[in-house]
Amino acid sequence: MNIANDWFKTKKLSADTTLIFEPHAHVLVRANMFLVEGSERDMIFDTGMGVIPLKPFLDTLRRDPSKEIICVASHTHIDHIGAVHEFDARLVHPIEAEEMAKPTDQLTLFRNEMPDNILQLLLDAGYPPIGETLLEAPPYAGYDPATYRLQGAAPTGLLNPGNTVDLGNHLYRVLHLPGHSPGSIGLFETSTGVLFAGDAIYDGPLIFEGPGTSIPDYRKMFELLKSLPIVTIHGGHDSSFDRTRMLEIIRHYEAIWDRGN
Ligand SMILES: [Zn+2]
Repeated sequence: MNIANDWFKTKKLSADTTLIFEPHAHVLVRANMFLVEGSERDMIFDTGMGVIPLKPFLDTLRRDPSKEIICVASHTHIDHIGAVHEFDARLVHPIEAEEMAKPTDQLTLFRNEMPDNILQLLLDAGYPPIGETLLEAPPYAGYDPATYRLQGAAPTGLLNPGNTVDLGNHLYRVLHLPGHSPGSIGLFETSTGVLFAGDAIYDGPLIFEGPGTSIPDYRKMFELLKSLPIVTIHGGHDSSFDRTRMLEIIRHYEAIWDRGN
């Protein structure tokens, strides 16, 4: 294995929004985190794998590291809540509150602890095979993947549809977006048409079979997305995309489901 010198990579998406991801995590768990710096407070939307501490790194990016920061979890899969315990304010949808407090799903980095049927389902969805661990390189020399365990943390607040996350100059409306998982949420900013979508929709292989998924929920949730004035989607994985691409992705999966997978 090569040694990963830079565990986190960043990309500035707008004056206030920075994408952060873990390039040396396997593509399956290489999730997007979004830092939004607001006039009143900052927000981190999803927190990656938690392989190394995230908050100290975020503080090197933030204009004012002393400012309050709210952590929002789009859902509670391992690649989205790895570092929730590092933040004082932790918000999630009520359906996944318990899972965030005491995670029970995938908790380690080892492939052999993932059920065979899940691994097969991921291969079928289009993901490449996973090596011994979910990391393609360690974060530093001598890192022992056996020391990793997903910690989770009890939420300090719950986000229901219609609630808002207010950063001062950015106001996000909470959308319940089940399909990928029962308590998946997105944050929608009406003034800009920006949606942070988590794993509800992204520009890569969507997972619609296996524990927690629901095709009927996906279908209803896609109707909701189509009905909203969405301009830009920042998904839970892969690159951001526009409304035209969103409609293409939705049509693609609707066609698969219509054929009766
Ligand atoms: Zn997920």
